[in-house]
Amino acid sequence: SGSGGRVSRDLDVHRELVLLHGVGEIDPESIDDYLRIGGYEALKKALTAMTPETVVEEVKESGLRGRGGAGFPTGLKWSFTLPLKAREKYVICNADEGEPGTFKDRYIMEGNPHRLIEGLIIAGYAVGACTGYIYVRGEYALSMHRLQKAVEAAREKGFLGKNILGSGFDFDIEVRAGAGAYVCGEETALIESIEGLRGNPRVKPPFPGVRGLWQNPTVVNNVETLANIPAIIVRGPAWYRSFGTEDSPGVKLYQICGHVNHPQIVEAPLGLTLRELIERYGGGMRDGVPFKMCQTGGASFGFFTAEHLDTVMDYASMQKKGGALGSGTMLVMNEKTCVVDVVRNILYFFQHESCGFCAPCRRGTRVLYDTITRIALGDGRESDLDLMIEVAHTMSATANCALGMSPIFFVRTTIERLRDEYLAHITDRKCPLGVCRPESRK
Ligand code: NAD
Repeated sequence: SGSGGRVSRDLDVHRELVLLHGVGEIDPESIDDYLRIGGYEALKKALTAMTPETVVEEVKESGLRGRGGAGFPTGLKWSFTLPLKAREKYVICNADEGEPGTFKDRYIMEGNPHRLIEGLIIAGYAVGACTGYIYVRGEYALSMHRLQKAVEAAREKGFLGKNILGSGFDFDIEVRAGAGAYVCGEETALIESIEGLRGNPRVKPPFPGVRGLWQNPTVVNNVETLANIPAIIVRGPAWYRSFGTEDSPGVKLYQICGHVNHPQIVEAPLGLTLRELIERYGGGMRDGVPFKMCQTGGASFGFFTAEHLDTVMDYASMQKKGGALGSGTMLVMNEKTCVVDVVRNILYFFQHESCGFCAPCRRGTRVLYDTITRIALGDGRESDLDLMIEVAHTMSATANCALGMSPIFFVRTTIERLRDEYLAHITDRKCPLGVCRPESRK
């Protein structure tokens, strides 16, 4: 597998839900319901029995990696910010979930918002922050509503505010709504947006952990990442490491979408294979039409074809095969799907969402979209395939943020792995499956 050894490949060891514990069972608007299932016990433990240093150490030992998509080690990120001396520090929960096919954070926010809030307070304690922000995707009205209610309830119970649980730790949370721009999910654009500015990504480094909100040290973590924290604190890093692989310990929310019988969100240990996800959780390919390809990790990453179905889904193994675990979205497509049409669709999204701040992304996404449209409509040349790879490569080397760096992954993997289908559009001057049409995208 290349993952450096699996720890628990027996999927049945994971009988008890961690991230989705209580989701669909408790009333998400009732803090008492959350308390009844052990809510805020982790906060009590952290504030009364642990120092910030031990909290950071335990999160480090758990091996938890960021669940927004990049998989950066969470404890390590916190350890950069903890020792910094600053007038103020901040923690931000990135809830601007905008990756196509990604809807897992919403499930947590709507189903059990207190778990995220508890994780954010613990993060604040661990790095010495005074304020936490939750930046919620603008379209997520129900998440906003539930988070706001939950923050108020937590404040009333004394889990937020001054001298929390008599520990001397002061911390409060503000919930902010985004306005629908994909790029504002990029952490530095998100920070600019909270500051009241246009959401232009900043150049990194410096990373926000050192210089973030109002130039102060700021830890930015995804919703699902923070939802792991209470369980790690209560049950310890060794327990958490009993799930998943050595490279990627723990549990993950996978979103299985597309041509399967049961598209759904599932919590499972890291290290499933794509085949297991499709068969065991997706109910197999819809109507028995054979598997053709899967875009891995969300819209930003590479495509797998049938030869990759048994790749272990952890961060390292996926990357080694040209895919990515990313946000855990697996968009499964059957044989009737045209790869050129799909990539054209994704490129339409990227050129639409490019913020226009840097030239490589602003122009590059447009050139890529125009080129693939030419191919889709029967006006392409074989040299267009080299052009697409060259443009996407230049973007990945020069764009200001991850948005412009992403197309190379799906452009390269599809052109390499499904080249014959691109070529058929070029030589036959039409879509072999009759799917690509001028009006399908503008
Ligand atoms: P990144 O690898 O640059 O950074 C990941 C995190 O680690 C950031 O918080 C960053 O500050 C931190 N980090 C990285 N290197 C560091 C260092 N040397 N020192 C200190 N901190 C460091 O990735 P990114 O640009 O933040 O995000 C790209 C990812 O976002 C992609 O993987 C993509 O899947 C994902 N994404 C997710 C969504 C979604 O809706 N969940 C949407 C779009 C993109």
